[in-house]
Amino acid sequence: MTGTFREGILKFISEINENAQEIEDVAENIGKTLGLVADDIRLGRFTMSLNAPPNNFEPEGVMRQHEISFGPEGDEADCVFGKYVTREGGVMEELFVPQKGEKWDEKEKELISSIARIIYIFCGRGRVMGLLEKSLYIDHRTGAANVQAIMRFGGMLKAKGQLVDYANVYINIKNFKFVNQLFGNTEGDILLKKFVDAMKVFANSDGFFARLGGDNFIMLLKKGRITDLRGFADALSFEMGEGEAKQLYDVRLRMGICEAVESDTMSDLMSKATVAYSATKFKNMDVVYYTPMLMEASMHRKEISTIFPKALENREFTVFYQPKVHLADNKLCGCEALCRWIKDGRIVPPMEFIPVLEAEGTICRLDFYIFERVCEDIKRWKDMGIEPVKVSVNFSKHHLRNRRLADEVLGIIRKHGVDGKYIEIELTEMTGAEDFTAMNVFIEKMKENNVSTSIDDFGTGYSSLNLLKDLDVDVIKLDRSFFTNINEADGGLSTDRIVVKNIVNMVNELNMETISEGVETAAQADFLRDINCSMVQGFLFDKPLPRDEFEIRLLNGDFYKNKG
Ligand code: C2E
Ligand code: MG
Ligand code: MG
Repeated sequence: MTGTFREGILKFISEINENAQEIEDVAENIGKTLGLVADDIRLGRFTMSLNAPPNNFEPEGVMRQHEISFGPEGDEADCVFGKYVTREGGVMEELFVPQKGEKWDEKEKELISSIARIIYIFCGRGRVMGLLEKSLYIDHRTGAANVQAIMRFGGMLKAKGQLVDYANVYINIKNFKFVNQLFGNTEGDILLKKFVDAMKVFANSDGFFARLGGDNFIMLLKKGRITDLRGFADALSFEMGEGEAKQLYDVRLRMGICEAVESDTMSDLMSKATVAYSATKFKNMDVVYYTPMLMEASMHRKEISTIFPKALENREFTVFYQPKVHLADNKLCGCEALCRWIKDGRIVPPMEFIPVLEAEGTICRLDFYIFERVCEDIKRWKDMGIEPVKVSVNFSKHHLRNRRLADEVLGIIRKHGVDGKYIEIELTEMTGAEDFTAMNVFIEKMKENNVSTSIDDFGTGYSSLNLLKDLDVDVIKLDRSFFTNINEADGGLSTDRIVVKNIVNMVNELNMETISEGVETAAQADFLRDINCSMVQGFLFDKPLPRDEFEIRLLNGDFYKNKG
C-alpha cells in the first residue's frame, strides 16, 4: 500500500459531509468525495444501488442506482463488493472497480471495504432522515402534504417576502359522505387519492397542496391562478367502481378563498380561508372570498357560543308572547312564545343568536329552557284565575334526532301540571326521509296526549306538499314571504294570491288549520279572511309582547275588535 493510498482513504473520511440529509444529497456527496481521492486510491468506477420494500410513505418502495466513472476502469474481477441487508428488509450493494491496469492488494481491499461500510452508514442515515421528514410532513393515507408542510412552505414564502403574491384556498369535497355511503369506504379512499394526485399536479411547483384531514384540503397558489383553479374544479371527474358498476363521478368542491395582503402571515391566511369556507355553508354558496366582515361575523358567532352556557345558567333568556288572532271574530285565540336574550340590559333578537346555536346544536337546551318558562307562565295564569290561550313553542329540527323527545316534552308538561290542550309544538319542514319518520312518530305521540303540533315557516322548505299529505299535524303556519307582495294596489288575483288561496283551501280540506305569519296590513288580513284562513299573527295586531303586557291581552279578549 502506498502512502498516497493511505492519504486518499484518510482524506475521504475527513471530507465526507456528515450533514447531507436526503438520500439524494448523500449520494451526490459520496460521488464528489470519491472523485477527490479517486486517483490516490486508484478507483476507476463506483456503483451503488438501493432497493427498499414499500412502506406507508413510499407505497411503491424504493429502487435507486448511482454509478460514477472516474476514468478507464480495470477488471471487475479485481473489484471490492459490499452487500448490506437493512432492518426494513432492503438491500444496498456497492461495487468498487480499480483503474485500468491497477489491482488492490489485500490490505488496500480491506480499507476500501471500510469505506464501503461508511458509505452504507451514511446512506442509511440519509434514508432515515428522509423518512422522518415524510412522516412529519406527509399524510400517509393520500400521499398529500399535511398541514405542517403547508405551514412550512408558507413560512418560507413569507420569509422571502413572496407570500403576498399568493392566495390560500380552503377546499372541501361536497357530499363526500355520500361517496362513502354509495361506493363504500375503500372506494372513498381511492377517490381521495385520485383527487389528491390531480390537485398536486394542478398546484405544481410554485403552489402547494395539503390535506388538513377528512375531505378538507388547503391550496396555496399564485393569485393569478385562482380563475384557473375554479375552472379546473368545475371539470373534476373520476372513474369509480369496478366492472359493470364503473361510472364517472363528478367531484364538486366548496372553496373559501383568501388573497394575501402584505401583513398576512401563513397562519393569518389559514384562519381567513377557514372563515371564508365556513361562510360557504351559511351563505349556501360554493365559493366565498374572504372579507374582514366575515371575520367579524365569525368572531361574533364564537363569542355567542362561548357565552351562551353561562347566559343560560344566569337565566338571561326570557319569553315574549306574540298574539294570534282569529280572523272570523278578531278575537285572541293563541300566541307564539318567542325567545329574547336580555344581554347587558339590551334585548337581543333571536336572529342574532339562534342561527349560531342552531349550527352547533346547542339550540335544544334553549328550547327546553323556553318550554319550561312557558309551562310556568301557563300555570301562573291558571293560578291567577286567568284563562290561558294555546301557546305555541318553537322546537328546532335538531330535536328530532332525540328518540326521547316526546317523553321529555310530556314529562315537562306533567311536571308543571299543565293541560296538554294549552300547548302547541312548532316544527319546521324537513328534507330527509329519516327526519320525516321521526317527525311522524313525534306528532302521533303528541296527539295521543292532547298536545297540538304545527309546521312553522311552511312554504320555505322543499317538501311542502308531501308534508301536507302524510303528516297529521294540526296547524300549518304559512311563512310571511307569501304575503309581502299582497297589498291593496295589486287587486285581482296575482300569483301570490292564487298560491295562498289554493294552499289554504287544500289545508282546510285536509282538516287542518292555517295561520298566516307576518301579517302587517289590513289588505292582507282582508284577503286572508276572504279565502278562509283561520288565524293570523303579525304586527297588524301585535308585536311579540313581554309576559306582563301579554297578560293584559289575556284579560281583554276583545282588544282586537276594531283592528284589522
Ligand atoms: P318564527 O318562529 O317564524 O317566528 C315568527 C317571527 O316573525 C318572529 O321573529 C316574529 O317577531 C316575527 N314577526 C311576527 N309578526 C311579524 C310581522 O308582521 N312582520 C315581520 N316582519 N315579522 C313578524 P323573532 O321573534 O325575531 O324570531 C325569529 C325566529 O327565531 C323565529 O321565527 C324562530 O324561528 C326563531 N325562534 C324564536 N324563539 C325561538 C325559540 O325559543 N326556539 C327556537 N328553536 N327558535 C326560536
Ligand atoms: Mg315559530
Ligand atoms: Mg315562522
